[in-house]
Amino acid sequence: SGPGTAALVASRVLDVPDFPKPGVMFKDLMPLFADGDVFREVIDGIVAYHGRDSFDVVVGIEARGFVVAAAIAYATGVGVVPVRKAGKLPRPAYSASYALEYGEATLEVHEDAFTAGHRVLVVDDVLATGGTAEATLDLVERAGGTVSGFTVLLELAFLGGRERLAPRPVHALLTV
Ligand code: AMP
Repeated sequence: SGPGTAALVASRVLDVPDFPKPGVMFKDLMPLFADGDVFREVIDGIVAYHGRDSFDVVVGIEARGFVVAAAIAYATGVGVVPVRKAGKLPRPAYSASYALEYGEATLEVHEDAFTAGHRVLVVDDVLATGGTAEATLDLVERAGGTVSGFTVLLELAFLGGRERLAPRPVHALLTV
């Protein structure tokens, strides 16, 4: 996934000011998901970057990460594990909480989600402060998975997510 996919992401993201609250510039990637040719090229770019034999399962972070994860899983023949917001999973789950600008958020994964040692590719749409990703990577490890990679379509570099997740590598198709 080189400059080609970066340009594709740039061409299919809409900037929405003051959503979901004043001062936030929301990066809306729905136009990318809605364009079949672009979506396929982006998914293929992620798979090519990591290598289709580098992971055994894909984790998607609720909710837009599910779209990306399911497509990667189908393209490569692996399964999907959802990391969900608190209270959505029906069976025993590990929880990880992290601070938001106002308040706190909690993510969960089923305790039996991973076969021990399975290599897990984690995906989401946007990397901002990295709190969501950090909680997710912790959950994967607590549940017995081995994180093999973390990819987002779009990274907002000024929010420092990459530094927060270091030394774990972050792959972004487009960094702004
Ligand atoms: P963070 O935990 O700060 O890295 O936020 C990442 C999560 O929140 C991801 O699941 C994103 O979908 C969402 N998110 C945060 N900031 C934005 C933004 N400016 N535009 C779109 N999504 C965002």
